[in-house]
Amino acid sequence: MFAGKTAIITGGSRGIGAACAVKLAGQGADIAILAAHMSEKARETAELIEKMGRKVQIYVCDVSDFTQVSETVETIIKDFSHIDILVNNAGITKDKLIIQMTEEDIDSVIDTNLKGCMYVTKACIRSFMRQKSGRIVNIASVVGLMGNAGQANYAASKAGVVGFTKSIAKEYASKGITCNAVAPGFICTDMTGALNEGQIEAIKGNIPCGRFGQAEEVAELVSFLAGDNSTYITGEVIKIDGGMYI
Ligand code: NAP
Repeated sequence: MFAGKTAIITGGSRGIGAACAVKLAGQGADIAILAAHMSEKARETAELIEKMGRKVQIYVCDVSDFTQVSETVETIIKDFSHIDILVNNAGITKDKLIIQMTEEDIDSVIDTNLKGCMYVTKACIRSFMRQKSGRIVNIASVVGLMGNAGQANYAASKAGVVGFTKSIAKEYASKGITCNAVAPGFICTDMTGALNEGQIEAIKGNIPCGRFGQAEEVAELVSFLAGDNSTYITGEVIKIDGGMYI
């Protein structure tokens, strides 16, 4: 499906991003991983992709830094000669009630989750336009659709990603570029790893499927939206949450 294609996956070192990187590589894509650190997990993900016979490179790049993003995407285009797929997945949480949130809690979450998504998309869009094709998949969250007490900064960042997705879809549909978002519910990764047993049970009680999702399940959806079977889908936000927000 993705033979000869290159995918940039932000936050591709671990969690949902790593699952997307491995899924796309398994279908033939070469992979550029953007991560905040050169970590053991990033190396493990890259090794797995290498063993599949795909080209892979890790780029340490803070997606909230406009200049770093522009330079890194330029380097990726030189290294891989072209990019075809962008998965904007890098994200963080700083959960607190708004009354307790610091300026840094607000800024860092908006800068990484929303501005990061905008910066990387902006850096890739000219290349997609030249090719008259491109697939952008943004990782939003059901929290951006339904809100969540204790996550006002995060919910606002993800609601912003939804508005951004729809706007980019409208701006570039005529250029052969699609832009969609997936909105996961609770997925087993480091991000949800800090929840205690009581919190996990309470959350599961609100999920009709009765369990958290797996990163690989999100990767399946991302792969569909990045592939050739979704050419007439753009500007969509697809929930993947076990029915939590019906
Ligand atoms: P995770 O396991 O915590 O991984 C986060 C990833 O983002 C890591 O690769 C990390 O890089 C990267 N990252 C963080 N800040 C960055 C920055 N400034 N620049 C570049 N990379 C950065 O998270 P996850 O659970 O897989 O979540 C992935 C995405 O799905 C996020 O956007 C998250 O909001 C969204 N999401 C997750 C869930 C869930 O339940 N897990 C639900 C809905 C939506 P390092 O490894 O170098 O730190």
